[in-house]
Amino acid sequence: MRFSMNRWSRLPLIASLFTVCLAAQSGPTYDIVLRNGRVMDPASGLDGVRNVAISGGRIAVVAADALRGRVEIDATGLIVAPGFIDLHSHGQTPENYRYKAMDGVTSALELEVGVSPVSAWYKAREGQSLINFGASAGHIPARMAVMKDSGGLLPRDAAMNRPATADEQKAIATIVQRDLDEGGVGMGMGITYTPTATPEEILSLFRLAAKFTRPVFVHMRGGDVVSALQEVISDAVVSGASLHVVHINSAATSRTPLALQMIDAARGRGVDVTTEAYPYTASMTEIASAAYSNWETREPDFFSRLLWPATGERLTRESFAQYRKQGGFVIAFGNTEEMVRAAIAHPMVMIASDGIIENGTGHPRGAGTYARVLGKYVREERALSLMDAVRKSALLPAQRLETFCPEMRQKGRLQAGMDADLAVFDAARVVDKATFENAAQYSDGFRYVLVNGTFVVRDGKLLDGVSPGQPIRAR
Ligand SMILES: [Zn+2]
Repeated sequence: MRFSMNRWSRLPLIASLFTVCLAAQSGPTYDIVLRNGRVMDPASGLDGVRNVAISGGRIAVVAADALRGRVEIDATGLIVAPGFIDLHSHGQTPENYRYKAMDGVTSALELEVGVSPVSAWYKAREGQSLINFGASAGHIPARMAVMKDSGGLLPRDAAMNRPATADEQKAIATIVQRDLDEGGVGMGMGITYTPTATPEEILSLFRLAAKFTRPVFVHMRGGDVVSALQEVISDAVVSGASLHVVHINSAATSRTPLALQMIDAARGRGVDVTTEAYPYTASMTEIASAAYSNWETREPDFFSRLLWPATGERLTRESFAQYRKQGGFVIAFGNTEEMVRAAIAHPMVMIASDGIIENGTGHPRGAGTYARVLGKYVREERALSLMDAVRKSALLPAQRLETFCPEMRQKGRLQAGMDADLAVFDAARVVDKATFENAAQYSDGFRYVLVNGTFVVRDGKLLDGVSPGQPIRAR
């Protein structure tokens, strides 16, 4: 009896030795192998033809040797890059995630306006998202709730028209603090949309973000861009909070070079400040917001630079007045190609879309931002290198968040052990199709996009019925 038990107990050992011998002969079989792609990893500088093996949602091996997979994809002639991370994505619906995936984006975060309450927002997306998602604790939604503003994404009355009382400021801070406690990815702020928020209110919120050691993502105050930038840089220095200035292209327009120089200089003096840009000469915001509070004093050519995306019409004083009552998004042509190029090409500027598509309308940046950088600015205009574009679209955004979002230490890099968030594209043909007249058009040229090791785009086509997207939270 005892003898036979010993014999049986040896069987698993013999079996596992046999498996090891087999594995040594032929190598393991991975879930997926992408064969012969040009792998670009801005973190290590790797730019060469490699095979990439994926197992269990992670990158298992990056090697020149042949690898075996249950699924093998021939990536010959294609770029294999870490998936793009969009730090400024207002669109957080299944509709928006589809345009993002087809544009190479594997993680989309709403960090400028942010959300409130944070936990309910994450709960609504868990287990049902095409791509990874995250949001900041939003000053704007907290202020709108406390001051009973009737607006939608942005304030349109109380929170934009009057200063908050001392009690209201306390209530706003309490909500933002709870939302940071619940994992909000930094603090979101749009001072231009809450122009009655005093410098003291803003500074005290920077101090709150500093307590959590999380950055403030800010759309600066309207008006003179130099003083607007001075305000937030000064608040960062005084409070100790890190600062990310959103869409420097549309915030600074003709003074983009000066704004970039100010940010570079602050960085040079040790202030943790970063910025981002999107590759379009027009911006978009809500017509009823504080961005247009002085519209009545404007000249006629101010209105003709505005486009109503729902109909494609250019506006007049009369149609502007009508749409401001109705509410909705309006597109404003206010920048030059030269300034946009300067922002996109600047080495420290990240790519971020500021996009939102609603029921098939919006600004083309919601669908075409990343393909446009790769097609127009890298391939056609040679304003920056392909590696730089990948660095600005994947690695820099991951680095901005990784000190307080552990998930981000696993993203933005194409190396063994990292999350298998990948964008596989044809650099010779990748192109944005979204236009100002028809924004809801998928980019072309992304052949495969994987989120946590699951295909969301395969053979250039979006896959239905998959939800591999995971939450990205602060800890
Ligand atoms: Zn903005």
